[in-house]
Amino acid sequence: MNSGTEIRSVVYGSPGVAAPTFQRTHLERLAFADMLARLRKSIEAADMWILHEIDPRTIHPWRAIRTLLSRPSAKNCLELVRRLRRTSMAECCLIENLAQSRRRNWMQRQMFTPAGTANLLFIAIVLLAGAIPVACYALSPVIAINEEAKKANVQPQLVRGDISVLEGSGGNITVLNRPAGKFLVDGGIAYSKDTLVHALQTISSAPPLFVVNTHYHWDHTDGNAWLHDLGATVIAHPNTLKHLSNSTRVDDWEWTFPPMPASGRPTDLVSKAKTMRFQGTTVRIAYYGPSHTDSDLSVYFVEADVLATGDTWWNGYYPFIDNQNGGSIDGMIRAAKENAKRVTEKTLVVPGHGPVGHRAELIEYRDMLIDIRDKVSALKNKGKSRAEVVAAKPTAAYDAKWGGFVINPEFFTRLVFDGLPAAPK
Ligand SMILES: [Zn+2]
Repeated sequence: MNSGTEIRSVVYGSPGVAAPTFQRTHLERLAFADMLARLRKSIEAADMWILHEIDPRTIHPWRAIRTLLSRPSAKNCLELVRRLRRTSMAECCLIENLAQSRRRNWMQRQMFTPAGTANLLFIAIVLLAGAIPVACYALSPVIAINEEAKKANVQPQLVRGDISVLEGSGGNITVLNRPAGKFLVDGGIAYSKDTLVHALQTISSAPPLFVVNTHYHWDHTDGNAWLHDLGATVIAHPNTLKHLSNSTRVDDWEWTFPPMPASGRPTDLVSKAKTMRFQGTTVRIAYYGPSHTDSDLSVYFVEADVLATGDTWWNGYYPFIDNQNGGSIDGMIRAAKENAKRVTEKTLVVPGHGPVGHRAELIEYRDMLIDIRDKVSALKNKGKSRAEVVAAKPTAAYDAKWGGFVINPEFFTRLVFDGLPAAPK
């Protein structure tokens, strides 16, 4: 900020999630109340609030707010404040979608012009004076992961033969480099485009010709559009196309993924399995069935004996499980068993997250999932609530080794619990 104001908190406004809040269940409302309490605390600590991330797909009452924000003036700022005052928290809150918003660019531009700064300060002062809990606090790990990707300096790590792995832009990216082009598994986060382009160039000047999305999550698909622009065909399961063509809500991340621009959507769909010849090598793509999501593909490079598992395997970490979009602990266990069965001691296995590993680590991971599943399931079947199961710490024996990344022990317990069938009556 050129005003020299220190910003201790930033507000993200996300109309993209405004619609679902109208139908919140009682339980969700309780969680929402908790969020509001945290918000109010944040507001007290903030020097200034920045409203941004106003999504172009805004609906009432955001449509009006969007219009006001798009034409900044003192009069519009006043009107904005008036409208925000009338808008209930449930409608005006929830924050997110950092990556996709055109308004973000607008706001960044505004921040670096004197008039823009004045407008923002004006909004901030009025909001703070009125103590309106306008907006919100970034709950989502998606934001933290994007921030990491922005800072990442991705260096290719040669794995075996023609195959390298790029780590640091969300999920791991596997690259098969051949003289006339590259074959990629996953496209990382769009914020890392520059460092990824550089990393790919470091491997060779051959262009990307294919990218397989191991599933629809943004940390594996967000780079699709720029890869497509460089000439790559995007391959994925039909459910990845479905999610990337619509808004997809992931409550466990407090996040709504907006549809991807058409240029980034997959055009070559694999529902079950597909074997491709790629410049003298063989690539086998296969669907796991519902596991981490409803769209998980594996990619096996036959000659190099390298398997990319996508997020069916997080090497050394508790995995995320997208229960809302086809994932479940039982699906994850099925996929882990399949991975272990398919590889030999010699196979190099590229996980969705974490370092490249081997069969022994896959098996340790599979057994950890099975043991925790059994413990959580036993408690759930006794009629214990989710909070009671979390309090019983069924993951305790594993936490030191597996609980140190995005998915902490409590979060993982909740994910396992939510994906299991309801207790018998
Ligand atoms: Zn994922």
